Formats: sequence, structure tokens, C-alpha cells
Amino acid sequence: MRRKLVAGNWKMHGLQADLAQLTALNATHPAPAIDILICPPATLITAACATCEGSAMQIGGQDCHARASGAFTGDLSALMLKDAGASAVIVGHSERREAHEESSEIVRAKAKAAHAAGLTAIICLGESLAQREAANTLDIIAGQLSLSVPDSAAAANTVIAYEPCWAIGSGLTPSPEQIGEVHDFIRARLTTRFGAAQADGMRLLYGGSVKPGNAAEIFAIPDVDGALVGGASLKADDFSPIINALESAA
Ligand code: PEP
Repeated sequence: MRRKLVAGNWKMHGLQADLAQLTALNATHPAPAIDILICPPATLITAACATCEGSAMQIGGQDCHARASGAFTGDLSALMLKDAGASAVIVGHSERREAHEESSEIVRAKAKAAHAAGLTAIICLGESLAQREAANTLDIIAGQLSLSVPDSAAAANTVIAYEPCWAIGSGLTPSPEQIGEVHDFIRARLTTRFGAAQADGMRLLYGGSVKPGNAAEIFAIPDVDGALVGGASLKADDFSPIINALESAA
């Protein structure tokens, strides 16, 4: 059985005062039946780890460089995130693919670096609205999956997040059938490449406008092992019902 996972992506939101949201979540969910991960801005990772010390909540990064160190002003390596206390890192988020022109080859190198540093890589994939409307979704997912996931991927170090670009921050979500189709497709491709033993253990998250009001419906879809949540992860009052919904589905 795969343990369910809900991950919060705070993006470029969060100051020291917002660590109070983690304190509130830890108080409400002292012994969760699922894994909970918060990915705050890198400036808050160490403080977030201190806030969550002794709790089940884990802390992750939102991106990393593909190299372990070097002359890359402003970048952070996976090793640095690990050193700061992170246990995971998101790579290939559509906002990075679009705004920073990150190719799937770059995403693969970042995921490989995450593995080498001992971090779980949460590798994001997803089609644009134009690609969905042109009925190209599965082709796009197939290409991103094969190019973005490194050979070092295994059940213990890799999570795949299916995040349709058009659903992120828009309030729109695919139908349960559309989410289920893509998740089943991803699982089948992972099985072909890594074998059933590894592929069956890799968690597949859905991401894109998950809210307290739609979480239960999304978590009822077979092969959805949890969610990557943006906006609704910023406040404990919004994230907590999503945690409850996933626990009920576990
Ligand atoms: C995200 O940024 O990964 C995301 C899913 O955002 P939102 O939940 O706000 O759509």
C-alpha cells in the first residue's frame, strides 16, 4: 500500500510570521495517518524545520539546481536544501518550466541531483489548455514523463505530480475521469520502465486548484495518492480540511 501524501507549495509566499500556520497544523494533526509536506520559500526552510521538530510534518524545497555546488549566483543545490533540513524538493513545476524555460532534460538533471542528495524528488508534469483541447494530453504526458524522470527514480525517492497547467491557480479542475485516465497512464508507463515493484510504490499526486470543497471527490479517484496544493496550503484553516479528506480516503 502506498502511503498517501499531501504536499503544500507555498510558492513565493511566506514570512517568519507565517510559520504560525505550521504550528496550527501540527496542533490539529499531531499524528496524521498520511504524509504531510510543506514546501515554503527556501528562506523559511530551516525555521520551518525547527517549528516542526518532533512533529510528523516534513519540509521541502520548491526547486533546486542540477549541480551540487558552483558559480551559480542565486541558485540553491539539492545538497543545500538537504543541509537546511528539507526531505524533498519539487522539480519541474509548470511555473518553472514556463517562466524559467526549464526543459524536461533540465528537470531530469534536477531530479537526479535531488536523488543524489538524498531528497525525494516531486516531479511535476502537465499539459496546457491548448494541448488538452487538441487531444494531445497523453502524448505530452508521455514525453514529459520519459524525459523528466531520471534512471535513479525508485519508489522510495520519487513522487510524480500530475498538474495540468490550466488548472493551477485557476479554480478549474479536470473531471475525475480525466484525472483518472492520466494517472492510470502514468502508472502504466512507470511500470513498463521501472517494473511493477518500483512503479507500484511511486506515489502519484494530482495538483491544480485542490480546495477543501473538491478534495474528497479528487481523493476518491483510483490511483490518486494525494495532492500537490498551492493556494489552499497557505492557511491552516484551508489546508486542514484537505488533510482530513485525504485521511478519510486512506
Ligand atoms: C501548484 O502550484 O502546484 C498548485 C497546484 O497551485 P493551486 O493549488 O493554487 O492551483
